[in-house]
Amino acid sequence: MNMQTKIHCKPKAGYEIAAPERVISRSCLKPDCGQCFGLCCVALYFSAGEGFPVDKEAGKPCIHLQPDFRCRVHDQLADKALKGCLTFDCFGAGQKVSQVTFKGKDWLQAPAYAVPMFDAFSIMRQLHEMLWLLIEALALPSAGPIHGGIHSLLIETENLTFLGAEAVLTLDLAAHREKVSRILLEASELERTNVRSSAGSSAARKKVLRPGADWIGADLRKYDLRGISLRGACLIAADLRGADLTGTDLIGADLRDADLCGTNLTKSLFLTQAQINGAKGDIDTRLPDSLETPAHWNN
Ligand code: SF4
Repeated sequence: MNMQTKIHCKPKAGYEIAAPERVISRSCLKPDCGQCFGLCCVALYFSAGEGFPVDKEAGKPCIHLQPDFRCRVHDQLADKALKGCLTFDCFGAGQKVSQVTFKGKDWLQAPAYAVPMFDAFSIMRQLHEMLWLLIEALALPSAGPIHGGIHSLLIETENLTFLGAEAVLTLDLAAHREKVSRILLEASELERTNVRSSAGSSAARKKVLRPGADWIGADLRKYDLRGISLRGACLIAADLRGADLTGTDLIGADLRDADLCGTNLTKSLFLTQAQINGAKGDIDTRLPDSLETPAHWNN
């Protein structure tokens, strides 16, 4: 692997926002493992109980990580039931830290970079996730009145991702996250209000779910979930088969093993690839354009 290769990020159609100097696209927020120094397989703490190969400390390489930063068992992750590996999504932070923040110097050849690189990866992942969500917020028609504020925050967030290592490591991430969370909530409320009023009388035929509760293993098919907030809800193994999640805010919702067979998620709000990767689905599950059907759904 050529460690000095620059990142080429070709935007795809949809979810592209023109900034003054460049195009910010969700296609830039997809992992490119060939340009990453195996950061997720080293930097993070993980445990066998969460679907990783072994219990390991943060900063220690996984037993399956090879010296070329490739995974030895990449083709067998599903067979080995390594769900943690299958579901993890770095939002493209791995290649950004490897090739931009640290300019192609890897932690194996330059061990002094290891700790700052791993710490920067954790910060960058959060920034890239914010970009993912802000891009979506900017595409919501109902959020028109606040598009200016979303756009400014998107540019500000993207600029943070191009800072040098020292600046990244000393960012006030909590303060920035607070600003982003506030505007995402506003955008969500605008969109959900619109969806609920469009849903009209058909919503009355189904029960309304009270947001904020845990729904582990619950059968949610009898509820009208359109336009409601399931932010941070625990939906582990919930039955959502055939549900219409139009305008449903799923930011931070735990969808591990939730059954999404036949579920319509095309216009759900703030859904990520990691959430989808951890859920169950089938060919009738309808996803937003920017998300991909996980390969292991077909197994
Ligand atoms: S099994 Fe492969 S993908 Fe999973 S942590 Fe180890 S090296 Fe990374």
